[in-house]
Amino acid sequence: MFSGSIYFINKGTIDINEHQYSENRSVNLPISIGIVKETSDNENRVALVPDDAKKLVAKKMEVLVQSGAGSSAGFLDAEYVSAGCKILGESKDVISIANLIIMLGRPDAQDLSKFKPKSTVVGQIYPLRFQTLVRDLARADLTVYSLELLPRTTRAQSMDVLSSQSAVAGYRAAIIGAYNSPRLMPMLTTAAGTVKPANVLVIGAGVAGLMAIATAKRLGALVTAYDVRKAAGNDVRSLGAKFLEVGFNAEGAGGYARELTEDEKNKEKEMLETAIISSDLLITTAGVPGKKAPMIVSAETISKMKVGSVIVDIMAESGGNCELTQRGKIIDHNGVKIIGSINPQSEVPINSSQMYSRNVSSFLSILVGQDGNFVEPEKDELLAACMICNGGKVTFPPMVNEGEGK
Ligand code: NAD
Repeated sequence: MFSGSIYFINKGTIDINEHQYSENRSVNLPISIGIVKETSDNENRVALVPDDAKKLVAKKMEVLVQSGAGSSAGFLDAEYVSAGCKILGESKDVISIANLIIMLGRPDAQDLSKFKPKSTVVGQIYPLRFQTLVRDLARADLTVYSLELLPRTTRAQSMDVLSSQSAVAGYRAAIIGAYNSPRLMPMLTTAAGTVKPANVLVIGAGVAGLMAIATAKRLGALVTAYDVRKAAGNDVRSLGAKFLEVGFNAEGAGGYARELTEDEKNKEKEMLETAIISSDLLITTAGVPGKKAPMIVSAETISKMKVGSVIVDIMAESGGNCELTQRGKIIDHNGVKIIGSINPQSEVPINSSQMYSRNVSSFLSILVGQDGNFVEPEKDELLAACMICNGGKVTFPPMVNEGEGK
């Protein structure tokens, strides 16, 4: 049974050896949640915030938090302690004890041997991009749920991490663009003359794009947007922006965009060039699920943009929508600033952590049953849809079908 030991923070030192858990502790506390400090570049967010941790503790779950896990997002250890969590010194202390590790991203391959076999991991793994890691997760005998694979259904809406984080990313993209632009965004009529509003073009009007449009509008810019899905036109117009029609509709399965044919790509390039050249700020957010970001803005087109124009490409992580985008870098190309923004949501870590944490809490309401035990993945369609490893095997259909990961 659980020894009842209390973890403590004392001038930053924690003696975990004093507090041994016996093998049978799960009889009393079946779910022991672990929150670690995220390790990927420039990551400030934390997967669970104290307010939500408190609710899980109230449901008789144990929450173990690595010291400092939330500090970059403004959530200090003391707040987790007040919420009833236990603070441990290092990530290895957390992952070797907890049986449900909740992350924003994915575990580091070198840490997998420290996880308890048969533990559950919840994060955003992007299995097609990290296939070797997925096989290693299966070999480590972990059950892994990758939240970005949840279907965009009404039931899954409260768990939709893609929407919550993309909304923040879109907002931030507009702010980054305005901040880096040598122009004002709004029209100003002053005694010193009239300033014209900036022209903002947003490519990709999904969740992030719509938030970028709304934010640029609030800043006073003249906003135009484009998407290959015709249905996006109504959303764009409802925000008071102009929608560019390309003359075909590339809506594919599940309401997402499909990849364009070569002919469609040429039409798109032709139609967009004038709009890109006349924009002061270009924000690119176009994605096709499971694929590299489509390359939409060529180096040749960028060369025709005005000096002082700014491009914010928030698809830099998955290859970028612009040919000259460099992941995580700001470059200058003949006076055009190209910002290869990665993880813009991490620059607003308080709210993006709160939103992710709420999504995760909602996911836990289906992962953990009324009896306080894990629900079998096959008993819930949402669990089954986002599970990528279980029972020592890769269960993610595209990889299994390739005969990999066994
Ligand atoms: P995403 O991040 O995959 O893509 C962003 C946008 O880029 C999409 O609107 C897509 O159409 C567009 N795009 C792709 N290729 C393009 C190209 N070559 N040129 C221009 N634009 C291109 O998508 P997302 O923002 O995560 O979601 C988009 C879809 O999901 C929409 O249909 C949205 O309504 C739907 N959705 C539904 C729910 C829900 O019902 N719960 C929640 C969120 C999103």
